[in-house]
Amino acid sequence: AKSHGTGKLRFFHPSLKENIRQRIDFERALKEALEKDQFFLCYQPQISASSGQTVSLEALIRWQHPVYGLVMPDRFIQLAETMGIIAHIGAWVIDKSCEQLARWRAMGYHELRVAINLSAQQLLVSELEETVSAALQRYQLSGSDIELEITESVLMQDPERSIERLGALRKLDVRLSIDDFGTGYSSLAYLRVLPVQAFKLDRGFVWDMDKGGKAWEICATAISLAQNLGLEVVAEGVETEEQSEQLKKLGCHLLQGYLFAKPLTVEAADIFLAASLLG
Ligand code: C2E
Ligand code: CA
Ligand code: CA
Ligand code: CA
Repeated sequence: AKSHGTGKLRFFHPSLKENIRQRIDFERALKEALEKDQFFLCYQPQISASSGQTVSLEALIRWQHPVYGLVMPDRFIQLAETMGIIAHIGAWVIDKSCEQLARWRAMGYHELRVAINLSAQQLLVSELEETVSAALQRYQLSGSDIELEITESVLMQDPERSIERLGALRKLDVRLSIDDFGTGYSSLAYLRVLPVQAFKLDRGFVWDMDKGGKAWEICATAISLAQNLGLEVVAEGVETEEQSEQLKKLGCHLLQGYLFAKPLTVEAADIFLAASLLG
């Protein structure tokens, strides 16, 4: 509180002008981040439930800024989307993760894949196919070496259009998976016709599954649904042995979460991969 000449107390808020200023600065910084080379990717391993081997790594973007520090995607992906610059960032992610996969394959990890997150706007623009096929060509990869993750809520915004867009991507033979499965209210009718190869069970369900509520039943039902549709299931956010054991028992194919590894820098991922080959 700030006291004024009249003796009245007034609560002092950061002014609206100050807020707008900060927001403009943040947006300007985000706009420049790509050309200033401030983004980097971390990679989180997805482990085969049956063999314990790393099958795939999910690319997760980070923004390292000189003033803001390390900025996590939850703080800028949505903003980049409203600013209309997500397609550029997304194209960079696709190129960079394909380059990294090619590097790992050259190191001898011939079966390894990468999983790449797509935003709503990225899915809708038709340049996406060109971006993906250009990256595949540049790094001599085939479509089936990469997987694109699209959240269920994005797909359900416009199911007809999504089916059409996913179909176009499937022509490149890339794998497609529904991210945050169970949170987007898909109807069973759509699930049946979406041309996807996998579900990623949302970490909210995994988190709750050993706590005695309904989450275990939801996980079990989602996994058996996927099996009936001939799809793979990836469980995300696996943090405890208990969750891992239950998910394995339920027939989940791939496990991802802090129990196995956090999102890793390239250097740390190299060490993780080398160790998992030995073990
Ligand atoms: P997501 O695709 O659902 O990714 C999973 C998030 O859960 C990641 O957060 C990951 O670090 C976190 N996580 C992984 N394992 C665990 C665990 O065991 N416990 C807990 N509590 N969390 C875990 P992150 O990296 O902050 O990414 C957040 C979201 O940002 C992602 O959610 C994704 O939607 C988006 N995102 C990240 N990278 C990209 C990108 O390159 N492009 C687009 N469009 N979106 C991205
Ligand atoms: Ca994801
Ligand atoms: Ca997810
Ligand atoms: Ca998520």
